Amino acid sequence: MKVLGIETSCDETGVAVYDTALSGVQALRAHAVYSQIALHAEYGGVVPELASRDHVRKLLPLIRQTLAEAGLSTRELDGVAYTAGPGLVGALLVGAGVARALAWALELPAIGVHHMEGHLLAPLMEDDPPQAPFVALLVSGGHTQLVAVEEIGRYRLLGETLDDAAGEAFDKTAKLMGLPYPGGPQLAKLAEAGTPGAFKFSRPMTDRPGLDFSFSGLKTQVLLAWRDSDQGETTRADIARGFEDAVVDTLAIKCQRALDAAGSDVLVVAGGVGANKRLRAKLQDMAQRRGGRVCFPRPALCTDNGAMIAFAGALRLQAGQHDDAQVKVTPRWDMAQLSPVAPA
Ligand code: ATP
Ligand code: MG
Ligand code: FE
Repeated sequence: MKVLGIETSCDETGVAVYDTALSGVQALRAHAVYSQIALHAEYGGVVPELASRDHVRKLLPLIRQTLAEAGLSTRELDGVAYTAGPGLVGALLVGAGVARALAWALELPAIGVHHMEGHLLAPLMEDDPPQAPFVALLVSGGHTQLVAVEEIGRYRLLGETLDDAAGEAFDKTAKLMGLPYPGGPQLAKLAEAGTPGAFKFSRPMTDRPGLDFSFSGLKTQVLLAWRDSDQGETTRADIARGFEDAVVDTLAIKCQRALDAAGSDVLVVAGGVGANKRLRAKLQDMAQRRGGRVCFPRPALCTDNGAMIAFAGALRLQAGQHDDAQVKVTPRWDMAQLSPVAPA
């Protein structure tokens, strides 16, 4: 089954074709992402109306480009998957509208995909994918969650952030040290040159039981350290390193706890912060010590993309699921409400 995936929940237009007849990394026939970062940079954050309009401009050309790269015509598709939520309502409606129109014109089944299920399943597109049950760490710009994956489609929330998401903390911390938007990846780059231990920040909420997170206090600690420093390049790198180590340690400690609580040794990590090199190394190390494994998507599939939507949609379409022919999105959507993907 060849499924076209469309992602427009926020500020990335993502399109992909996933072919279930092929295996491993071959199955992703083509994927392309157009990022709106430059468009929103001067505002220091995503402007919803500009995001919607840019999706309108970019989506059809990106679909044509992706199909051409896959060597497929629209007639050869078997289904369409699109992000139906959570996300910005106007942005979601662009993707849902185009997906629905295509599905109607081509007489194909179409399905609305939960964006976070897309992120969560992205590691399963890699070779030698893990089998449920496992524990998932979702670390993105809007979410930080630990989820028990009992089977594909059945998700139980173990813990989540009480304030900022991990990616949001990276972005806000970068901003307060003067890095341009969105600063997360740049802060991580800067941290590479920093001296570990030169600045030591706390590991929030690790001194008590539980699987919830809180990252907003860390941002304040950085603000104070930065304010009282010489604000030089070396200091900035040292603070970045101290901040990154604090976030990475905190995430690793809670992942370990979540694996213990779930009685599992398989951890799946997804979302933009999953691209962070130090997080990847730390969790690899932890998994090795436990005799378990940790699975990541390749870095390009950690941040928003159409591939994860094509893949998650393909699993459900293959199981015979699809949605009614109406343009409907769900800007706020709890993952625990999803239904299991019945075996094909
Ligand atoms: P959500 O999926 O929760 O709706 P989102 O789609 O905006 O949020 P993603 O695209 O998954 O989030 O990830 C973007 C986030 O990942 C940003 O906050 C960005 O700073 C962060 N990020 C990306 N690369 C890195 C990195 N190497 N280190 C740390 N953070 C990173
Ligand atoms: Mg984004
Ligand atoms: Fe995302």
